[in-house]
Amino acid sequence: MTQPILELNDICYSYHSLKGETDALSHISFQVKKGEFLAIVGPSGCGKSTLLSIIFGLIAPESGEVHFPRDARNEEDEHSQLKNCPRIGYMLQHDHLLEWRTIYKNVILGLEINHQVTPEKTARAMELLKDYGLYKFKDKKPGELSGGMKQRAALIRTLILDPEILLLDEPFSALDYQTRLSVSSDICSIIRSAKKTAILVTHDLSEAISLADRILVLSKRPATIKCDIPIHLTVTGTSPLASRNAPEYQGYFNQLWKEISDESHMPTPPDD
Ligand code: ADP
Ligand code: MG
Repeated sequence: MTQPILELNDICYSYHSLKGETDALSHISFQVKKGEFLAIVGPSGCGKSTLLSIIFGLIAPESGEVHFPRDARNEEDEHSQLKNCPRIGYMLQHDHLLEWRTIYKNVILGLEINHQVTPEKTARAMELLKDYGLYKFKDKKPGELSGGMKQRAALIRTLILDPEILLLDEPFSALDYQTRLSVSSDICSIIRSAKKTAILVTHDLSEAISLADRILVLSKRPATIKCDIPIHLTVTGTSPLASRNAPEYQGYFNQLWKEISDESHMPTPPDD
């Protein structure tokens, strides 16, 4: 986990509309190492989703650049259709499963679009459905599944395309608290065991501390990087739920709360 797979250099972005200009991002620079799990937190409306859209290439920065250093990439990337651009998976808050397709058909949607429906890939889809407890539900429609199951299906749909970098924009926020804990824990172990590089936007500080190797705190809009906090938890076991019992956890929580509340005028945290 040494070389950067992604570099952002001095990114600025504003939205322009008839109502005027909204400055969203101001001089954002950071690197993400291969295999790293980065969380991004910041006040609502500060520009977090805009930042992910720029990394994904949905919108172009006004100034600055997004760079994917080649050294950190796999050899097969030489043949990638978009030169210098790694495969990026983007998972949003809502699962965006298509209601008229079965879970299996939803999971292989990206393969169909990319003309990659091969026996190996469909076998892999079945394997992932089994691993994540969805095999029995593969012929059901999304409406017949719980929120957590649908979010797992959306993750499999993203993972089956074998992305090198996963962008996760508040993927658990539509779930109830208990489901959220177990789905975020599952999804984290899936991402770690697949050794993916991940960038998670979340407003849940506990989730950020328990899942990430490093947390970027953004200021209020236009977002700048307020601080960059590496997370080291001494815990036995790797489950994100267990990490909430680490002795360092409360210190990180208080530090993050202070940084965020300075930005959004939140009250001081409750005592332990
Ligand atoms: P976050 O994800 O941190 O909540 P966003 O990146 O979605 O914030 O938005 C940052 C700012 O840009 C917000 O003030 C939002 O209202 C504004 N914004 C987002 N999308 C658009 C758009 N398409 N046109 C104009 N303003 C936008
Ligand atoms: Mg957002």
